[in-house]
Amino acid sequence: MVIAFIGLGNMGSPMARNLLKAGHALAVHDLNTAAVDALVADGARPCASPAEAARDADLVLTMLPAPAQVEKVLAGHHGVLSTIKPGVPMVDCSTIDPASVRRLAQLARAQGNDLVDAPVSGGTGGAAAGTLTFMVGASEDLFARIQPVLQDMGRRIVHCGDVGHGQVAKICNNLLLGISMIAVSEAMSLGVSQGIDAKVLADIINASSGRCWSSDTYNPYPDIIESAPASHGYQGGFGVDLMLKDLGLAAEAARQSHHPLPMGALAQQLYQVWSLQGQGHLDFSSIIQLLSHPDAA
Ligand code: NAD
Repeated sequence: MVIAFIGLGNMGSPMARNLLKAGHALAVHDLNTAAVDALVADGARPCASPAEAARDADLVLTMLPAPAQVEKVLAGHHGVLSTIKPGVPMVDCSTIDPASVRRLAQLARAQGNDLVDAPVSGGTGGAAAGTLTFMVGASEDLFARIQPVLQDMGRRIVHCGDVGHGQVAKICNNLLLGISMIAVSEAMSLGVSQGIDAKVLADIINASSGRCWSSDTYNPYPDIIESAPASHGYQGGFGVDLMLKDLGLAAEAARQSHHPLPMGALAQQLYQVWSLQGQGHLDFSSIIQLLSHPDAA
């Protein structure tokens, strides 16, 4: 299958590499020419624009930062929709808001193409290992058609419902993740300030009712979980600014449906403060430093 892959960043590059390994022909595009060159060295064909990448493709995949970039790449000048063949599906794996997906899907349908939302979880490690979870919003037929390609990049391919529902699942999960990381940070830093050993406290939480992914897999306190960014200076992982973007997507969805989001709003403000202090590039679990005594974590 000829696949156009647009957006070769931290996630897109390893995902595209897995498609090459699975035997697909790839036409790639990114504003960052170094990222394109690296994929070309692995056998992909370089393209100067999304339009060029899409022209001969049987499937178009995008992995871009936010709604504005997805809109530009699909519907902008020299965008995918200007050259894509009728009937060829587009699969957007970026995390964006459900309303933007539905609007772009309507635009695509008007010219005979379908847009599927398929955001992922599993991080850069999962992207490299080909073990991502895909949350897919599509009709039954379309889901069955694209599932084999997603399986070349992931382990769990979940049909969440019609177009937009993949993004709904993704932003609800990340809303909870953003809040739970702050809750674990608050509990860990309070405990340590009261003199308990951080490891002892984490072991208690992880065997008690406070246990969650943010405590037992990705604990924000250093040297509790060896593989967590907290044990490596909060480098790598999932950036504060990306979490901030996802909480903004949840807030926007809540605003549109007049849904209350008090914990999400507070979490968004705390990550915003942390980002403004110049920490937006750090892993989001570094938020514990905002909630700790200066001589602690
Ligand atoms: P990234 O910033 O590393 O990569 C984005 C890429 O898109 C960059 O290479 C950039 O040059 C390219 N790009 C931007 N605008 C473009 C345009 N107009 N035309 C062509 N290329 C363009 O981001 P990432 O970490 O790969 O994340 C991509 C998406 O996946 C985001 O929506 C993010 O929220 C989501 N996501 C990220 C992670 C993670 O751990 N990093 C995990 C799950 C989901």
